[in-house]
Amino acid sequence: MVGQRVRTRFAPSPTGYLHVGGLRTALYNFLFAKKMHGDFIIRIEDTDQSRKVEGAQRDLIKTLEWAGIVADESPEKGGNFGPYIQSERLGIYGKYCQQLLDDQHAYYCFATHEELEENRQLQIKQGLQPKYNRKWLPEEMGGSMPPSAIRKKLDEGGPYVIRMKVPDYVSVWFEDIIRGPVEFDSATIDDQVLMKSDGFPTYHFASVIDDHLMEFTHIIRGEEWLSSMPKHLLLYEFFGWEPPKVAHLPLLLNADRSKLSKRQGDVAVEDYIRKGYSSDAIVNFVAMLGWNEGEGSEQEVYSMEQLIDKFSLERVGKAGAVFNVDKLNWLEKQYIKNRPTEKLVDVIKPILLAELEQKKSLMPEEMITSDAYLEKVIELMRERVGFEHEFVTFSSYFYFEPEVYDQEAVRKRWTIETNELLREFTDILYSLEVFSAENIETHLKEFVLPKGMKAAVLIHPLRILTSGVSFGPSLYHMLEVLGKETVLRRILKGIENISFPV
Ligand code: GLU
Repeated sequence: MVGQRVRTRFAPSPTGYLHVGGLRTALYNFLFAKKMHGDFIIRIEDTDQSRKVEGAQRDLIKTLEWAGIVADESPEKGGNFGPYIQSERLGIYGKYCQQLLDDQHAYYCFATHEELEENRQLQIKQGLQPKYNRKWLPEEMGGSMPPSAIRKKLDEGGPYVIRMKVPDYVSVWFEDIIRGPVEFDSATIDDQVLMKSDGFPTYHFASVIDDHLMEFTHIIRGEEWLSSMPKHLLLYEFFGWEPPKVAHLPLLLNADRSKLSKRQGDVAVEDYIRKGYSSDAIVNFVAMLGWNEGEGSEQEVYSMEQLIDKFSLERVGKAGAVFNVDKLNWLEKQYIKNRPTEKLVDVIKPILLAELEQKKSLMPEEMITSDAYLEKVIELMRERVGFEHEFVTFSSYFYFEPEVYDQEAVRKRWTIETNELLREFTDILYSLEVFSAENIETHLKEFVLPKGMKAAVLIHPLRILTSGVSFGPSLYHMLEVLGKETVLRRILKGIENISFPV
């Protein structure tokens, strides 16, 4: 393996959505491969045909690409080690399974489900760890089943599986890059099924064969696969193959340190995309679930390039990583705060154009969709939005008339004089030649202060009438951006609809 080009893989089963844990596994494999100037490969593990979901493969790859995790070889891209879908490699597994049968490392098993279950219950009752009882282990392999009985069953064509024979009294030892040395006693290892009765290999068998044939140098995957390692290593030994290096990633935990909930809403990457998170924030967030740069680094915001540069498996921790959505939200805000304005314009313009297909605006469309206008909205709203789409959705009053006014705020802010004050102030606004924040502020103050009133008597009602809501950016700047015509139209329409007492 010395000097070999690094090759890593992400090997999802196409059973539905991409779990955030899966995204982390893919990301770490990708970061490590790129850091080492190697290749990152996607292999689809669809040997459990009953769990296969139509379209899941495409969706998985699309979601990874959205995150910037692009494979060097995959079912879609091809490569020198294909096919990259296990159901298209059945002949390969058949051949290697025959080799294990010939070498007496594997045997046929005709046990029925009922028999296996009965055996399991019995062992549990006896306080033993349930394992196959080796009823069908042939005499010549140290078992008690005569060859004639096996032959007879095979001739009958009865359904069977093929199991590996785990050697007795050995210990299986390996060094995990993250966990250090790990050891298993073979007494705890079951005679794993390699080939199922439907002719498909099990995950364990297919993944070992493929990991070897596809020449992976490093296997990086979730902790849940750690206990499978001894079976895999025994298979490598049976074939006389050198196993790849392995790293098992820490569990993802909820805030209460329970295993990260499986409820789809919480763990499907696609849901986070739908909510509006950007790939930068998600990738950054997921990268930190188990990895950190090490002491002395205060950095929390990393680009993909920086992650590739700094990532190392040695800095992945053993302890479970807490999945903290507040951290993700914080990161999303950091990205919005620091993203160049032109980039944000590019993101929000299509969102606005799509909205304009659904809803008419009373403002000139060429104005509100212009770069200059959107840049002004961004400047005012950058610190206030949690997602990029909120420059449109949470700030719709910059493009559309308010449909309702916050009634609570109206009740709080309207007095018997409010509409009259607004009417008079509208005349002043109308007369302004320069409709700037500064000018509006000066004139508002000059209008109310001599009456012994505070600016607030107009500020709040103006905001409610022009935006529909009681919070937002600096009122004067917001009015400047909206423009004189829109502001006057909204105030006049508003006071027609609101009369005191409200
Ligand atoms: N198909 C397995 C999964 O869905 C892959 C495990 C591995 O990486 O070996 O997680």
